[in-house]
Amino acid sequence: MRQKRYAIGADIGGTNLRVALVDREGKIVERIKTSSTETDDVFDSLVSAIDRFYSDDVAGIGIGVAGVIERAKGIVKRSPNLPSVEGIGFIDGIRQKFSLPVYIENDANAAALGESWTGAGREFNSFVLFTLGTGIGGGVIYDGHLLDIAAELGHISIEADGVRCPCGNNGCLESYASARAMTGRAVESIESGTESLMKGCCEGNVYKISPEDIYSYALEGDNLARETLKTAGRYLGVGIASAINIFSPEAVILAGGLIGAWNIYVETAIKEASKRAFPEIYGSTKILPSLLKDDAGVIGAACLVFDKTNS
Ligand SMILES: [Zn+2]
Repeated sequence: MRQKRYAIGADIGGTNLRVALVDREGKIVERIKTSSTETDDVFDSLVSAIDRFYSDDVAGIGIGVAGVIERAKGIVKRSPNLPSVEGIGFIDGIRQKFSLPVYIENDANAAALGESWTGAGREFNSFVLFTLGTGIGGGVIYDGHLLDIAAELGHISIEADGVRCPCGNNGCLESYASARAMTGRAVESIESGTESLMKGCCEGNVYKISPEDIYSYALEGDNLARETLKTAGRYLGVGIASAINIFSPEAVILAGGLIGAWNIYVETAIKEASKRAFPEIYGSTKILPSLLKDDAGVIGAACLVFDKTNS
């Protein structure tokens, strides 16, 4: 029987729902992006997006979703950044609608798989991927395969008595190094009277400040903006050092919107990680940006399908 040419990959993150039609070379043929936070029902949005790409030439559907996944049952057990998906039976629900094989994976794990297939991870047998956005996710490729583990790298504890995280722990990396952590810290400092050009941001509504705004103020020389990025970067470096010490990966790949602030945020992180990780392990680890950027998740989700089906 002729092999079907495409897979549908979906990436349900804390901010966006992305769905794409992907071919066997890992190329995106067509894509859709919508907000996952403004929609009442993520499942319905997912179904209508899949429906646009559905055809006889689709081998299956792969779904990457933020949270801790119970793969056998195909449900999201816990998703601190996207509670609306908790308990949804994605595999059964989507299979019923489309009569195709359906696979589910954590979104950052899917992104790691995507980078491993056609992105920055192609040349490495083992790497750790951090997704740096609203929250922080992780995925681990080891010995050429995606590790079937939670890899919740954003929830490594870095401050024993630190701030409470939605996951239930205190002092998680995500609470100090993510986009949400950055904007929270910037707003708090402005409210407590720290002088900053950022006060004039967003027509005076500093609560609307984004990491991109913080970065552009930092480039203008604003001290608070710079310090905000560097503080978050320093914490990220603590997390990266732990990941390097645990996995001794050939590479650490950094993905997500925050890598746009590479020269301040990520470079501070790299400096910090270099001071903390075992030098003998750090010395053979490359730290580099994602190649697929926002597409890594959908490409990885499609890869799940091609890896597991031969139809
Ligand atoms: Zn946490």
